[in-house]
Amino acid sequence: MNDTPLMERQARLQQRICAAVDAAGRRRDQVHLLAVSKHQPAESVRALYALGQRHFGENYVQEALAKQQQLSDLADLTWHFIGPLQRNKTAAVAAHFSWVHSVDRLILAQRLSEQRRDDLPPLQVCLQVNISAEASKSGCTCAELPALAAAVAALPRLRLRGLMALPAPGDHTAFQRLAAMQAELVQSGQALDTLSMGMSDDLEAAIAAGASWIRIGSALFGPRKA
Ligand SMILES: *Cc1c(COP(=O)(O)O)cnc(C)c1O
Repeated sequence: MNDTPLMERQARLQQRICAAVDAAGRRRDQVHLLAVSKHQPAESVRALYALGQRHFGENYVQEALAKQQQLSDLADLTWHFIGPLQRNKTAAVAAHFSWVHSVDRLILAQRLSEQRRDDLPPLQVCLQVNISAEASKSGCTCAELPALAAAVAALPRLRLRGLMALPAPGDHTAFQRLAAMQAELVQSGQALDTLSMGMSDDLEAAIAAGASWIRIGSALFGPRKA
C-alpha cells in the first residue's frame, strides 16, 4: 500500500493542473480530469467520488463491469472506456459506458453505433491515433484518420468528439501533432472539441498542447498493484 492519502494526491494533482493551465494561458475549465481506475478496487473509486471526482476511465471490460456493479448506488458517475477494444466486447461497452476514447477501426465504431440503445444518449467517441507509429500500439495511422473520422461522424448512435493518443516515450512533439491533426479535421468541417492526451508523467506537455481530457492513474491512486 502507498501511504500518501488520496486527498493529498488529488490536491497535488490539482496544483499541477492549475500550474500547467496558467503556464499555457488556458482556463482551468478547459481541462477535464479523467481518473483512470484500472486495477484499483471499487473502494478507491468510491473514495475519490467522495472528494468530488465524477469521471472514471477503465481499460478492461470485465473489470469495469464488476466495479460498476459495486458502485451502482452512485448515480452520477460517468464511465469512459480507454482500453484496447475488441469486437466481442463492443456490446458491453455500448451498454455500460458514456465515452469511448479508443476507437481505431470503422468496424468497431459501426458495432458500437448498432449496439447503442436508442434510449441512451449517443456514445461519445474519440478516435485513437497511433501518433508515434509504433508497431505494437493500438490506434489508426495518421494517413487513415481523415477517412475514418468522416465515416465515424456519420454513424447515428455515436457522437465523434475528437482524438486520443498515447505517444511513445521521448516523442516530444506528439501532442502538438495530434492537436494539428484535430485542427485540420475541424478545418474540413468536423465539429470536434476534444483532445484526450496526457497522463501522470506528461500532463504538463499535454495541457500546453491543448489537451481537454487528461487521463490520470498513478498520480491519483498511487502505483498500480498490476
Ligand atoms: C493506464 C492509462 C492511463 C493512466 O496512466 P498513468 O501513467 O497511471 O497516469 C492513461 N491512459 C491510458 C490509455 C491508460 O491505459
